[in-house]
Amino acid sequence: METFDLIIVGGGPVGLFTGYFAGLHGLKTIILEALADYGGQPQMLYPAKTIQDIPAYRKINGTALTKQLLASLETTTTVLRKNYRATTFNKYKDLWVINHEIAAKSIIIATGQGAFRPKQLPIKLDDQIADHVHYSLPDPAIFTNKDVAVLGGGDSALDFSLELAKLARVTLIHRRPEFRGMESNVQKLKKLKNVEILTPYLPQALSFHDNKIRLTCKQVGSNKERQKDFDEILVAYGFRANNRFLRKWEVELEEGLVAVNSKMQTNLNGVYAIGDAVTYDGRAPLIGLGFGEGQIAVMQIMRQVFPEKMLTVHSTALQ
Ligand SMILES: Cc1cc2nc3c(=O)[nH]c(=O)nc-3n(C[C@H](O)[C@H](O)[C@H](O)COP(=O)(O)OP(=O)(O)OC[C@H]3O[C@@H](n4cnc5c(N)ncnc54)[C@H](O)[C@@H]3O)c2cc1C
Repeated sequence: METFDLIIVGGGPVGLFTGYFAGLHGLKTIILEALADYGGQPQMLYPAKTIQDIPAYRKINGTALTKQLLASLETTTTVLRKNYRATTFNKYKDLWVINHEIAAKSIIIATGQGAFRPKQLPIKLDDQIADHVHYSLPDPAIFTNKDVAVLGGGDSALDFSLELAKLARVTLIHRRPEFRGMESNVQKLKKLKNVEILTPYLPQALSFHDNKIRLTCKQVGSNKERQKDFDEILVAYGFRANNRFLRKWEVELEEGLVAVNSKMQTNLNGVYAIGDAVTYDGRAPLIGLGFGEGQIAVMQIMRQVFPEKMLTVHSTALQ
């Protein structure tokens, strides 16, 4: 069994910052993230949107915020583990154990609205094609000079298309004539020469031809078909979030969110919760607020569980 001082479940912005803060204060910490990419909602749902209320950043987008948080973590000993979904939670002596293999005296739940799963393209894919079908945009540079199909009609599809249009040829395909996302972004896309908008078309089949992926779409309401070849396909049908596993963990919930006191403690000794996963009177879903909750939880853990490690509250005294 791997043993740490602290396990943080969830590698969204709040979990990442808290992992940095805990590492800075000498707690042997691991962050577990269910997805293949860190960064939670800003990275997965709105990577290109400008966030204007992160302390000390006048403006920063979701991708850049995630990069900065990961860069800070590199300066600590905090361990990051992605593609790792915490499902079971048990007590063994004075340790909390995740998935029967990772143990710690303290846990911070930072699972946001729940473990994300991208809504899948409802087409059967063979492995060769599946390698070219993406559900997120962690590194737009890999699409440079490529023909890319973006599928979807919400804000993410529009944001992805605008971001990719800076370096690739983009075809945005949506099953309805109108988009759900911001109209101003639709207008921006319509003005770009390297962007084609195909509506109302529904993707039907993908096949491999001469190193390209041939996408066959059917026009909604008619039998007309259209085929186009692409290098990469980016699916932006949104995400489903699932926090149901928390019910089995016996943490007290209020309307599906973890109930905490002002020290971010749950009903279970040594188990804390922060960020969008929690509820208390007056909470708002804000990243900066979650950062502060992470600091409260770590300070509390230092005082209660590891008093011998509690050297100072202020990082300025840590050099
Ligand atoms: C469109 C949009 C715009 C927004 N704009 C702003 C803004 O301008 N300013 C602002 O402050 N906030 C904004 N927010 C809110 C902000 O994104 C959230 O408050 C923030 O992401 C919460 O961070 P978190 O780390 O608590 O949760 P999340 O970002 O939800 O991250 C939780 C992470 O935990 C992982 N996880 C969940 N369950 C498990 C499990 N069992 N095992 C392992 N990993 C798990 C998830 O995969 C996810 O990566 C916006 C939100 C949206 C949707």
